[in-house]
Amino acid sequence: MKVTVFGIGYVGLVQAAVLAEVGHDVMCVDVDEAKVTNLKNGVIPIFEPGLAPLVKENYEAGRLTFTTNAIQGIEHGEIQFIAVGTPPDEDGSADLKYVTAVARTIAEHMTGYKVIIDKSTVPVGTADKVRQVVIETLKKRNADIPFDVVSNPEFLKEGAAVSDCMKPERIIIGTNNDQVLDLMRELYAPFNRNHDRMVIMDIRSAELTKYAANCMLATKISFMNEMSNLAELLGADIEKVRQGIGSDSRIGYHFIYPGCGYGGSCFPKDVQALIRTAENIGYQPTLLQAVESVNDKQKHKLFSFLQRHFKGDLKGRTFALWGLSFKPNTDDMRESSSRVLMESLWQAGAKVQAFDPEAMEEARRIYGDRSDLVLVATKEDALKGADALVICTEWQNFRAPDFDLIKATLKQAAIFDGRNLYEPERMAQRGFTYYGIGRGASV
Ligand code: NAD
Repeated sequence: MKVTVFGIGYVGLVQAAVLAEVGHDVMCVDVDEAKVTNLKNGVIPIFEPGLAPLVKENYEAGRLTFTTNAIQGIEHGEIQFIAVGTPPDEDGSADLKYVTAVARTIAEHMTGYKVIIDKSTVPVGTADKVRQVVIETLKKRNADIPFDVVSNPEFLKEGAAVSDCMKPERIIIGTNNDQVLDLMRELYAPFNRNHDRMVIMDIRSAELTKYAANCMLATKISFMNEMSNLAELLGADIEKVRQGIGSDSRIGYHFIYPGCGYGGSCFPKDVQALIRTAENIGYQPTLLQAVESVNDKQKHKLFSFLQRHFKGDLKGRTFALWGLSFKPNTDDMRESSSRVLMESLWQAGAKVQAFDPEAMEEARRIYGDRSDLVLVATKEDALKGADALVICTEWQNFRAPDFDLIKATLKQAAIFDGRNLYEPERMAQRGFTYYGIGRGASV
């Protein structure tokens, strides 16, 4: 099938590559010229495991093409995916300007029937807005061309995006049109052979499903972080509590890790956007507000440990920081806890020596050259001349470091672990002052 994807970010590029891999003829359109040129030259703009070879092979096979020419993209596919960003507006609601801009462009240039698929995360009612934009634009052209709008939210996880798209747990399709549904079944058939993963519903339910999923996951994290704060004050160990509650099959072990807060491009903005949606219709989303506020506080947790440990005397100190991305296996630093920490440290007059396996370039892009941020080549280099070590991301190769080397290199044998990678008792035996999240008497 001929498919066009608008927006080649984490979602659009992965989805496009995966659709091409199963044989579809996919054209990607983006307004970012540098991105398109780079992709044509084999330079992948993001780090995502397994993505680079997939893009390369499908590009070379001619099934995956890149362009900045929207008209070409609109001509290409009967199916037109919208996978552009929906960043938070000033008040936290989802900014739909990129989505409606694409819808308008499609309507300005379409000459035959199109299925417009909302793949971006968009508030309930957006498909209606998209439909309205297309109708109005076609009217201006005096054109009477049929089209349909479908909601097909994306559930991939950064860091496992390729496998999530290749083997989706569910494919949510919001439509009330059987012919469109047949087309969607054909499009996704290669991903739907083992068992039927398609969940069909009305458009508004599909739109809300995406927010409900992300808000549920964010709720689990904030709940555990609230428990971790209680554990700390009550002298209990949240890691024991986690295992205790995870063993209940109704709760399960997934996604109940306490830490220094959730980040990324989805949870913070989607929780906020659903709060705004609720408020706009006169509903007080008490639970969602609490989820957000617990998370905001949690992102300051490591800084408050540092302040406590150094008795407020952070000026002129240097801290080693392991982990900049909001989670492992990605270079994405959007809303990352490391940013909140670094910015607080800089404000307090401290310097950061940071290492991340994939996000160094992204950190350079965000912060540019500044004297209080030194990006170093290895995690060991980050320790040199540093007062203490802080960990913000649970990358695999941080899990079993050379503790003797850490101790010998740091000025103080102190570790502030935002992801509970180590055991407090072992750390004490090794001679460290160790701060974890919710680790009771040890902090
Ligand atoms: P992104 O910022 O990585 O990419 C968006 C791309 O859209 C950019 O390359 C940008 O240049 C392009 N763009 C903007 N306006 C355009 C236009 N008019 N025409 C063509 N391209 C245009 O965003 P992302 O992380 O891929 O997220 C996209 C959407 O998917 C968002 O709504 C997000 O909430 C949702 N989502 C993201 C994830 C994730 O893990 N990143 C997961 C599920 C859903």
